Amino acid sequence: MNLIMLLDMVAQADPDRIAVTTGDRSVSYGELLAMAHELAAGIGSAPVAAYLGENSPEAVALLFGASVAGVPYAPINYRWTDAQIAEALDRIAPLAVLADAGCASRVPDNDAVRHLTQVPGGSVDGAVPDEESPAVLLFTSGTTSAPKAAVLRNRHLVPYVLETIDFLNADPDEAILVSVPPYHIAAVSSVLTSVYSGRRMVQLITFDPDEWVRTVRSERVTQAMVVPTMLNRILDVVEADGLGLPHLRHLSYGGGRMPAQVVERAMALLPDLNLVNAYGLTETSSTITLLSPDDHRTAAASEDPAVRARLGSVGKALPSVEIEVRGPDGVVLPSGVAGEIFVRGDQVSGEYLSHTATEESGWYPTRDRGHLDADGFLFLDGRADDVIVRGGENLSPAEIEDRLAAHASVAECAVIGVPDAEWGERVEAFVVPAEGGAPDPEVLRGWVREALRSTKVPAAIHVVDELPYNETGKLLRRELRARLAVTA
Ligand code: ATP
Repeated sequence: MNLIMLLDMVAQADPDRIAVTTGDRSVSYGELLAMAHELAAGIGSAPVAAYLGENSPEAVALLFGASVAGVPYAPINYRWTDAQIAEALDRIAPLAVLADAGCASRVPDNDAVRHLTQVPGGSVDGAVPDEESPAVLLFTSGTTSAPKAAVLRNRHLVPYVLETIDFLNADPDEAILVSVPPYHIAAVSSVLTSVYSGRRMVQLITFDPDEWVRTVRSERVTQAMVVPTMLNRILDVVEADGLGLPHLRHLSYGGGRMPAQVVERAMALLPDLNLVNAYGLTETSSTITLLSPDDHRTAAASEDPAVRARLGSVGKALPSVEIEVRGPDGVVLPSGVAGEIFVRGDQVSGEYLSHTATEESGWYPTRDRGHLDADGFLFLDGRADDVIVRGGENLSPAEIEDRLAAHASVAECAVIGVPDAEWGERVEAFVVPAEGGAPDPEVLRGWVREALRSTKVPAAIHVVDELPYNETGKLLRRELRARLAVTA
């Protein structure tokens, strides 16, 4: 099976059903399928179909048009500099590029690039993609290093969609809001699941909390996905006007660490909302573990600290996904012991343009650290690269951040390791004041010492106005390290 078959099934069954709404423009499933075929004709024999632009019905059509042409779709981050865009296109060239009006001038003008500005009609006779065919090339966020071009084949994406959505039981009257940009794996997986379930997808170009809330209400959105930096801002709007989000039934969050306080705030303000924490990577075709709405409610209502702590977990592996935690020597660790998280399953690729990181046996090293509890709930400690090694002891930034964030004077915080002559690395923290709060570094050090070992107490706490995040809500610790290196 391939991606175009997912659209075909719905478009044949109900061509007039609305597939995508962007502002005041709506495109039906029949129109979307026709657009996909027209774009496929424009792609012709180019080996890759790249997209440079904002969320639009054309971006959705190109994802499927690439499948008609038998080539992968490669959405590129339009927020990159011209040099980064040129370099990314170079890595996947030669290719056909569809750019929206704002980005057209940023596509390098050379013979290897075919602009899909004017789509010639006509038919395509590209090879029908099979399971092995690459369906999507997606650059990782570049949180820890330079973005890597992940290769997702039909045999990774199709099972993910089929297992997530029960086509026959999907409720087509639901509307799903896509407010992450098209080059993020969450946008790709939302588009695929929305289309296959015959839902209406409502697109936002950029995230603004007021517009997000307004759109959810006016478009009667029933399902949405947010990254951590969005949720508190949405809750501020909802709390201020007291009107709630009456149609929204499911809200999933992920892509980065969500503070437990924000989850608790969402549950208190919107008690009927079903919250889902979804953990996944570009390389795993999106979600691999879920903390379900029931898990949220059970954890929040529990007196048992071990069950309550699950509110800070990313839940359990999807039925078709296996999770293993391994120590530095590669040995599988028992529950409760932290190590590197490995994942295996149909949807797991782990392949890049130039190499694969997946073992022969199918296990992929996520480079995230964490542990499983006795019931299979996964707790993340952060990136393996972010572990602080102080005097030979491995310290998890997440544990220290959780403690700092629980202090009333702190809105957001980040903990990093800083080179230290005596200990190898020392712990330092950045905190953003809560509204009306004035964080005092000495008070906060005492607050951490009350709960954690003394080695985990930050040697310095810097009070800052804001933390550096990328546009999809990922904390950029390397920028914090660079800040300290400059001032050292
Ligand atoms: P790069 O590999 O280039 O540094 P990246 O890994 O940030 O980029 P993505 O694939 O977008 O690129 O991000 C996946 C990472 O996001 C995961 O490895 C994990 O660290 C983090 N993440 C995803 N979902 C969650 C979640 N629900 N809770 C906490 N962290 C999450």
